[in-house]
Amino acid sequence: MKVPLFYLNLMDGNNPSCPIRQQAVPSPLEMDNDGEEDPLGENGVSVTPALLKRHLNRGVFLVTSQCAMYCRFCNRKRLVGKAWHPEIYREESIRYIKEDPHIREIILSGGDPFMLAPDELGYILSELRGMPKIGIIRISTRMPVVWPEGFTREHLKEIKKYAPLWIVIHINHPKEISPEFLELVRKIRETGNMLISQTVLLRNINDCPHVLSKLFHMLVAAGIKPYYLFQLDEVIGAAHFKVRLEKGIEIMRALRENASGLAMPQYALDITGGLGKIPLDYVYVKGRDKGSRVHVENPSGKAGIYCDDGEESSCMNCGICRK
Ligand code: SF4
Repeated sequence: MKVPLFYLNLMDGNNPSCPIRQQAVPSPLEMDNDGEEDPLGENGVSVTPALLKRHLNRGVFLVTSQCAMYCRFCNRKRLVGKAWHPEIYREESIRYIKEDPHIREIILSGGDPFMLAPDELGYILSELRGMPKIGIIRISTRMPVVWPEGFTREHLKEIKKYAPLWIVIHINHPKEISPEFLELVRKIRETGNMLISQTVLLRNINDCPHVLSKLFHMLVAAGIKPYYLFQLDEVIGAAHFKVRLEKGIEIMRALRENASGLAMPQYALDITGGLGKIPLDYVYVKGRDKGSRVHVENPSGKAGIYCDDGEESSCMNCGICRK
């Protein structure tokens, strides 16, 4: 367990159901052993002990095992905050990325990459930027939410040098949007980097369309595009945070009724066994009459008809694929 004073001060000390408190303070329910140590099957896709490669063209580079706070539902509980030192495998991982002919995108993760000293993070970014084939770099972080003062002016200088990077902020509740968070987000925007967010759907914390709509709206207003809403992974000791899939899909439908498209993340599930992300959403296309009439439904449940030309279109021969 680790909770920065900053995040502790966001908690309601008199309310055991406080959404901030539940994410940080252990519960006896964690003793329930349902779930997996490695719910995403990451051990099976590691090409070095610190580099995961599930997809041909991208890799997840674990650059530290440290986080500012340990979320109770973390899917890397087996690694984070433990005496595991991915730094040892850094050079080996950089070499692998250099030599792999397919990798085009790297996601820096861990742990929280902003727990590294700024020059250490800068070194990794300079190595990656030194490889022209790596066009896209993402950095996943929860620091702006749980410990904004740990994200220093020197970190900002480093990310400015290597812009445009995609900074992916893990945030789960509107209460996590503090003035300090907003001020840091403003400074990150000034570095010329892009900001997107990921949120975990958590029982009794944010499994409500009103809570999520407020969160996503506030994020867009701050210049952060909501990117993913994740169904909780099947991680050991976190089953009490799980929300039924059908409820998640209904929440997405309710959000879509009023939210602007900018405030709609992709709802997705990662299942045990390492299949990768599975997008989830309500099915709005309800069926087709013979021919061109397609039955559709809007998010409020109103039915309508769309007419297409009824024929399957053939390949347009774009020349990009090699069929
Ligand atoms: S910040 Fe991310 S990696 Fe760290 S404990 Fe929370 S969920 Fe896990």
